[in-house]
Amino acid sequence: MSQQGETFFTSIGCMDGRSECTVAKWGRKKFDVKFADTITEAGLVGLLSKSNTDRYLLESLKKKIFISIEKHHSKQVVVSGHQDCAGNPVEDEKHRQDTLKAAAIIKSFVPTNIEIIPVFVKRDLKQGWMVEKL
Ligand SMILES: [Zn+2]
Repeated sequence: MSQQGETFFTSIGCMDGRSECTVAKWGRKKFDVKFADTITEAGLVGLLSKSNTDRYLLESLKKKIFISIEKHHSKQVVVSGHQDCAGNPVEDEKHRQDTLKAAAIIKSFVPTNIEIIPVFVKRDLKQGWMVEKL
């Protein structure tokens, strides 16, 4: 399914390109892999952290995560929330909590050898959009 040297990590978060592109760039460097498998919805961690998580959404996410892990041999799953999110317009601190909650939900169904990394993507005056590990 993937050729030798084609390595991946998995990025789960908002569709917002400011967040998605920042995480892809950060993760490729951090995990020394070539590609980011990217699974998105608008305001994803907000949707996942609701008490009545949409079952269809959850099943759809699981399916994609398992393709990334099993077919692309991803070893890391980054779960991201971000500042200025149109899909989950809450305060930063609430968004960080939503991200941690979403990461815990994802951790509950992926194999234990897969690392789950919750992050918050924010605007920095000097660096532009950057990743904060939670
Ligand atoms: Zn967003």
